[in-house]
Amino acid sequence: MTENVQTHGFQAEVRELLRLMIHSLYSHREIFLRELISNASDANDKLRFSALAQPELLAGEPDLKIWVDYDADKKTLTIRDNGIGMTREEAIAHLGTIAKSGTADFFKKLTGDQQKDSQLIGQFGVGFYSAFIVADEVEVHTRKAGEPVSSGVRWASKADGEFTVETVERADRGTSIVLHLKDEAKEFADGWRLRSLVRRYSDHIAFPVLMRKEGEATLDWEPVNQAQALWTRPRSEIKDEEYREFYQHIAHDFAEPLAWSHNKVEGKREYTSLLYVPARAPFDLYQRDATRGLKLYVRRVFIMDDAEQFLPMYLRFIRGVLDSNDLPLNVSRELLQQDSDVEAMRSALTKRALDLLARLAKEEPEKYAGFWKEFGPVLKEGLGEDPSNRDKILPLLRLASTHEESDEPKVTLADYVGRMKEGQERIYYIIADSITAARGSPYLEQLRSKGIEVLLLADRVDEWMMGHVREFEGKRFKDVSRGDLELGSLEGEADKAAAAEVAKENEKLLKRIRDALGDRVSEVKVSTRLTDTPACLVLAEHDLGAQMRKILAATGQSAPESKPALEVNVGHPLLKRLDSTMAEDDFAELALLIHDQAKLAESGSVANPGEFVRRLNRLLGQLMA
Ligand code: ADP
Ligand code: MG
Repeated sequence: MTENVQTHGFQAEVRELLRLMIHSLYSHREIFLRELISNASDANDKLRFSALAQPELLAGEPDLKIWVDYDADKKTLTIRDNGIGMTREEAIAHLGTIAKSGTADFFKKLTGDQQKDSQLIGQFGVGFYSAFIVADEVEVHTRKAGEPVSSGVRWASKADGEFTVETVERADRGTSIVLHLKDEAKEFADGWRLRSLVRRYSDHIAFPVLMRKEGEATLDWEPVNQAQALWTRPRSEIKDEEYREFYQHIAHDFAEPLAWSHNKVEGKREYTSLLYVPARAPFDLYQRDATRGLKLYVRRVFIMDDAEQFLPMYLRFIRGVLDSNDLPLNVSRELLQQDSDVEAMRSALTKRALDLLARLAKEEPEKYAGFWKEFGPVLKEGLGEDPSNRDKILPLLRLASTHEESDEPKVTLADYVGRMKEGQERIYYIIADSITAARGSPYLEQLRSKGIEVLLLADRVDEWMMGHVREFEGKRFKDVSRGDLELGSLEGEADKAAAAEVAKENEKLLKRIRDALGDRVSEVKVSTRLTDTPACLVLAEHDLGAQMRKILAATGQSAPESKPALEVNVGHPLLKRLDSTMAEDDFAELALLIHDQAKLAESGSVANPGEFVRRLNRLLGQLMA
C-alpha cells in the first residue's frame, strides 16, 4: 500500500497562514472548534443539497449529524460529520491550498506585527487550517458520499510545510478530523470545556452536535446544541449573544457585527432574511471578483453560499441568510438571474438593508461612524448604481466640511442644509486628493470669507458619485471649482456691479495674459472666488475633473482634453506687477508661472515640471540679483 502514500507541499500562502496563525491567534485559540464544526455543518448541507437530485447518496444513513469526541489520555479531539466527504483529489486541493481570490494580495498586506496581523487574519477567515493553532498533528479521514468503502482517504500533516495522502478503506461516510493536541492545548480534551464551547459557538448549527454522555464508558451520545437553524426561531426568543455568534459562524469574522435585521415576510412571497452589518471591511472589498451575497436556503435546505443576486453591488458588505419558501429546490445561479420573484426580493432586501443602516445611524451614531469609515466609499457607489434609492442613500452620507475642525467625515446633508446662510441656494463642495488638500484649496477663499460652508470630498469615488446626484431637499449641489459659483443673493447687487467694473478696467491685462498662455486655457477672466491666491483654473460644469482623469489614466484610457478658464485675482500683488509696463518676455514668463501654479493647486501636477521649476528659479534669481 505504501506507493499509494503521497507527500505534497502546501501552497506558499498556506504555509504563511499556518505560521501566522500559530503565532498570532493564540488568544483566540478556541475558534478552531467553531471553524471545524462549521465545516462539518457545510459538508452536511452540501450532502443534503446533492441528495435532492440523487437521494441514494443518503443511503443507510439519512440523518445528518456531527459528533465531537475526545480522549484525554491520548490528547486527541475528533470532529466527525456524515456529510459529503472528499475524494483524494478534493482533499489535496481543498486542504492544501487557499482558493479565495486575492489571497496573494492579502498576504502582501501582512506586516509582521502580531497585533495587526491577527486582526487581518480574522477578516480573512482561517477555516480548516485553524486546527493547527491547537494541534501539532492533524489527520483527516474522509470518504465521499456515493463512493465505495475502498475509496476512503487519509490526509495527515504536522504543519511542517507538507502533508501526506493515502487511499484507505473507510466504512463511514463523510469526514473525521482528528487533532493531536499540543501540550499547552490539552485543556480542549475535556468534556465540560467542549460542551460549553459547542453551546457558545455552535448552538445554532442546524444539525445535532453530539457528545458522549459524561461519566459513562458507553456509546451513548446526546445532543449538545439546539440544532435548530437560528433564523427559523422567533425573534423574541433569540438572545443578542446568539445573533452575534451566528454572524461569526456565517461571516468567519472574529469581530462582532454592528447591527442586524431579522425578518419574516409572509403573503404572496414567503421568506425569512437575516442581514448583518459587519464592523470591519473584508480584505477583498474592492476586488471585483470577490465573493459576496447571502447564504441561500430554500425551505431550510442549504442551496448556495454567496447568492449575490439578492443585493446590489454597493451593499456587498452585508452578510446574512435568506430562506425562501417559494423558490424551487433546484434553483441555480442562472435561474436566479432571470426570476422575477428574485428581482422583487432584491428590491425589498435592499430597502431592508438601507433601513438597517439608517436605524444604526440614528440610534448608535458612534457605531455608524465606525461603519462609515470601513464602508462609506462602497455605499457611495449606490448613488450612481441605484437611482431609485438615492433618497435613502443621501441621508446616510457622512462628509468632512470646512465648518468642522477635524477631517473626520461627520456632517450629514441635513446638517449642512440646516445651517445654510440666508439666501444660499446651493450645497457647495470641493473634490481633491485629500481632505487636507481640499481644505487648503484656493477655490474656497471667497466662500470662506463669506462664512459659507463647503463640503470636502476626497474619496476615489467622489467625482463619479457627484456626477450622479443633483440635489438634496431641493438644494442643488455645486462644485466650487467649476463654472460660476452661483452665489445668487449671497452676492449683493453692489458686488456684481463692482465686479463688472473691475472686469472692464482690466480688459487689456486679461487679453495680454490670454495671448501669453495661448491655447492652454479657454479664457481668462476676473475671479469671483479668490482673495489670497493670484489665479485658479476653473473647469466647465461637465468637464472631467482631476480625479476622474486619474482613474481613467490608471485603467489605460485617455480622457478627452478639457480646457479650463483661468481666473485671476486682479487685486493680488503679482497681478499688479504684470499690469505695469512689463517687457513682453518677462510678462509671458510670469503669466506662465501663474498658470502653472494654478494647475498645481488644481490637480497636483503640471504638464512640464522641469520647465516650471526652471522658470521659477529664473524669477527667484532675478529677485535676488
Ligand atoms: P471554507 O469553509 O471557507 O471553504 P475551510 O478552510 O474551512 O474554508 O475549508 C476548506 C475546504 O475544505 C472546504 O471548502 C471544503 O471543500 C473542504 N472541507 C473542509 N472540511 C470539510 C468536511 N468536514 N467535509 C468535507 N469537506 C471539507
Ligand atoms: Mg470553513
